[in-house]
Amino acid sequence: MSRKNRPWLFYDTTASVCTTCLRQVEAKIVIKGDDVFLDKWCPAHGSERVLIADDAAYYRLGREVYVKAPEMPERFNTPMRHGCPYDCGLCPDHMQHSCLSVVEITEHCNLRCPVCYAESGPERQTHRSLAEVEAMLDAVVANEGEPDVVQLSGGEPTLHPDFFAILDAARARPIRHLMINTNGLRIARDEAFVARLAGYRPGIEIYLQFDSLHDAVLQQMRGADLADIHARALARLEAHGLSTTLVMTVKRGVNDDQIGEVIQHGLQYRCVRGVTLQPVSDAGRNVDFDAARHRLTVSEVRRRVAEQSGLFTLDDIVPVPCNPDTLAMGYALKLGDEVLPLTRHLGPDALLAGPRNTIVFERDPAMKEAVFKLFSTNHSPESQASCLSSLLCCLPAIAAPALGYENVFRVLIVQFMDAANLDLRALKKSCVHFAQPDGRLIPFEAYNLFYRGERIEKTREIQAEIAAATARRR
Ligand code: SF4
Ligand code: SF4
Ligand SMILES: [Zn+2]
Repeated sequence: MSRKNRPWLFYDTTASVCTTCLRQVEAKIVIKGDDVFLDKWCPAHGSERVLIADDAAYYRLGREVYVKAPEMPERFNTPMRHGCPYDCGLCPDHMQHSCLSVVEITEHCNLRCPVCYAESGPERQTHRSLAEVEAMLDAVVANEGEPDVVQLSGGEPTLHPDFFAILDAARARPIRHLMINTNGLRIARDEAFVARLAGYRPGIEIYLQFDSLHDAVLQQMRGADLADIHARALARLEAHGLSTTLVMTVKRGVNDDQIGEVIQHGLQYRCVRGVTLQPVSDAGRNVDFDAARHRLTVSEVRRRVAEQSGLFTLDDIVPVPCNPDTLAMGYALKLGDEVLPLTRHLGPDALLAGPRNTIVFERDPAMKEAVFKLFSTNHSPESQASCLSSLLCCLPAIAAPALGYENVFRVLIVQFMDAANLDLRALKKSCVHFAQPDGRLIPFEAYNLFYRGERIEKTREIQAEIAAATARRR
């Protein structure tokens, strides 16, 4: 008798949440051809199947090769009582420290973007007090010792009335690298503001919203004509030598054909250190999120980078080991008019193979060693460089003075999971965390799904159910 086979490979089990009721559910990872799916089943709401990668070989690279021992924070902030994801955080079951801590200093914004996960806008007027922001910064320092990267965000952080007092408060703490997450409006319009900001160099970086060069697209993503604002903001940042990352929220069918254009645009500026690509997810104001039309997986974004950038190939974009499910990166060196993708030269043999790179590396044996270490993360899993924070800020420091900030160009793909594609195994490795005034650090996706604003009500209901069920079992 011949048995029937399932038409797919059963790769793994994991857990997720039901998109309808947000309760934890069982999930399977199945591979069908090149596609990888998360299959979920809720006793109340039935089955769901969500595409999580369209390149099974790349997905498996992140699961099987780019893996490292979790790096822990100095302390945990909450006990384990209800199970993941209802104990954030960080609870002792979390498997990665905060590579990047986000400190939201205001709900106010001068835009009202249709894709805003924080649902900020002009009508929201609440700013965190300086005392609250200091408590959030202290929470990050208590968890991290010397935090690698802290990002001031919002809302629009540059509109906070105490913005520079907050920068001073951050500077007074042992934070290595400070980022300002901004839509660029104030930078474009206020020369004195940018000049004062430049006084905080080095160790400060502008994380500049930059979805497109075209107003038709910016209208869809941000509800405003911003192309001219972006151009003026970039000109000022270039003039003041302020390190900048262009941050592109990517929506399938809207701007996913413009990834190469934004990367090439960024390469024209000395101040631009790279482009971060964030596929849009079903969070916050993104209420008209149509997954079938707009969701993009990391592997799809990676392929677009390879197809459109004219610079990076597929081999240049690799999983970031601290959270390989949701992060991918590629590095290039900018040397005059030449741009040399570096990531493909991972590993000791390959390092010496490319004659152009050999010239660079042989100039400085110490740098060669440092760059070798940075790019051999898959050979030394304990390496610090396998952390998102190192990828964000450490290469320029390591390479200086032989190479400066202006020589580095980085492409990062940062996916934030939503209720549909949430893999709790990957969430436990989240290394981008929101600081809270009460001392908690909550993983990015968990915060937007379970803890932000009114969402906490639903989470409290689930926590109460779990507590009651647990009491019955005792
Ligand atoms: S996401 Fe992390 S911090 Fe939150 S409950 Fe799960 S393991 Fe704990
Ligand atoms: S996405 Fe940024 S710029 Fe847009 S409304 Fe939200 S906080 Fe403001
Ligand atoms: Zn359900």
